[in-house]
Amino acid sequence: MPTDSGVDRARLASLSARERATYAERHPRSAAAYGRADHLFGRVPMTWMNKNAAGFPVYVDRARGARLTDIDGHEYIDFCLGDTGAMAGHSPAPVVAAVTDRLATLGGATTMLPTEDAAAVGAELARRFGLPYWSFALTATDANRWAIRLLRAVSGRPKILVNSYCYHGSVDESLIVVGPDGRGVSREGNVGAPTDVTGTSRVAEFNDLAGLERELAHGDVAAVLMEPALTNIGIVLPEPGYLAGVRELTRRYGTYLINDETHTFSAGPGGATAAWSLEPDVLTIGKAIAGGIPIGAYGLSAALADSLTGRPDLDLVDMGGVGGTLAGNPVSMAAARATLSDVLTEEAFAGMIATATAFADGVRKLIDGHVLPWSVAQLGARVEYRFASPAPRTGTESAASADAELEDFLHVYLANRGILLTPFHNMALMSPATTLSDVHRHHEVFGAALAELLG
Ligand code: PMP
Repeated sequence: MPTDSGVDRARLASLSARERATYAERHPRSAAAYGRADHLFGRVPMTWMNKNAAGFPVYVDRARGARLTDIDGHEYIDFCLGDTGAMAGHSPAPVVAAVTDRLATLGGATTMLPTEDAAAVGAELARRFGLPYWSFALTATDANRWAIRLLRAVSGRPKILVNSYCYHGSVDESLIVVGPDGRGVSREGNVGAPTDVTGTSRVAEFNDLAGLERELAHGDVAAVLMEPALTNIGIVLPEPGYLAGVRELTRRYGTYLINDETHTFSAGPGGATAAWSLEPDVLTIGKAIAGGIPIGAYGLSAALADSLTGRPDLDLVDMGGVGGTLAGNPVSMAAARATLSDVLTEEAFAGMIATATAFADGVRKLIDGHVLPWSVAQLGARVEYRFASPAPRTGTESAASADAELEDFLHVYLANRGILLTPFHNMALMSPATTLSDVHRHHEVFGAALAELLG
C-alpha cells in the first residue's frame, strides 16, 4: 500500500521523470542491448531483472571488489552485490585462484564424484554454524526445498510454517501471508501454485509468539522455516525473547526449526545463529558462501541426521526427491573453500560490520535532519531504511510501509550518480572491499536526493 512517506508527491513525480530521462540519456548502450534481446523472455535472462526503476537494467561489463562497470562505461559503487551473492565482493582473488586452479589446472567442472574440498567446507560450516552434518545444493531455494522434504519425512507431518512476507526462494510452501482476517492466504501474484497453499502451509507474523503457538497447536507442522530477522521485506529485527520463544514453542509442539541464513549471514561469520546463540535443527544457506559461484547448503543436527539414517525407507541416494546432478560439484566446492578460509573471515566481518555501522549512522543522521518518518535497521554488514517510524515489527507492517514510487526515485537518482542499491529493497550490503569513502560518497548523493526532494 503506497504511503505518504513524508514527501510531496507532485515534487516526487517531477523529479522521478527527470531522473528517468537522465538515466535513458546516460545508458544508450544498455538501452540498445535491451532492445536487441528479442529472444529472451521479457528481454532479460531471468524475469526478475526487469525489476529496475528506470525501464531497463544496466548491462554489466566488469565487476571487481565493490565496483561494477556497465557497458556505457559508468562505474558504480555496488551496494547491491548481487543481492548477497557477491557479499564477498566481486571476483575476490582467492576465489578466482581456486576456481581457475580447479578448472584450468586440475580440470573437471562437474563429475558427480566428491573432491576433497567438500569435506573441508563441511567442517568449516560445522565450526561456524554449530550443526555437524552438511549437504550441498546449487541454490538456497533448493537447500530449503530439500530441508522441507527431509523434515516432512522424519516428522510424518504435512505442513510447513513460515512468517508472513518472508522470502525463502521459489519454495511453494512459503508463498503464504496472513490475510486481513488473520488467516493464511496465498501471496498475491503466486505463479502456478500446485495446490492451495493453505493445504501445505501455516503462517504467523514475525515477532508474534501467540500467533505462532496458535498455529503450532494444530500438531500438523513438520517445520518452521524462518529467517532469524526478516530481510526480504525491509529488515525486521527480532524483539528481545522472540527467537528463544520460537525455539521453546517448536520444541514443545514437536516441530523442527530451520534457520534460513542466506541473507542473515551478514550478522557475522556464523550468521545470526552464532551471533545470537540460536539452536536450529537445520540451517540453510546459499548465495554468498562460494564468492558468487552457485551453491546452496544445509546443515543438520546430530539428532536429525540419526533419525534420517534410521529410515531405510527414505530413498536419499536415487529418485527420492532430494539431490541434484551438479550439487557439490568441484567448482562450487573449491570456491566455497576459498571464500570461507580466505575472504569472508572473522576479520573481514569485523571490517564489514564497522563499515555498515558508518552507513547506518550516516543515513539515520540525514533522515533525522529532515525529520522524516523513516527508520533504519542494521543486521551486521547489511543496512536498510524503511519509510515508516517506528520500525515495522512484522512483515505485514513492513509491507504496508512500501512506497514503490519513492523507492524507484532514490534508486534511479543514486544510479545516475554511480551508486547501486539492491533493486528489491533500499538495502545496502558491505563487502570486505567496501570502504568508508564509498559510504561517504553514498551519503553525499543520498543527502542531495533528500535535499532536492524535500526542498
Ligand atoms: N532464502 C532467502 C532468505 C533469500 O533471501 C533468498 C533469495 N533472496 C533465497 C533463500 C533463495 O536464494 P536463491 O534465489 O539463490 O535460490
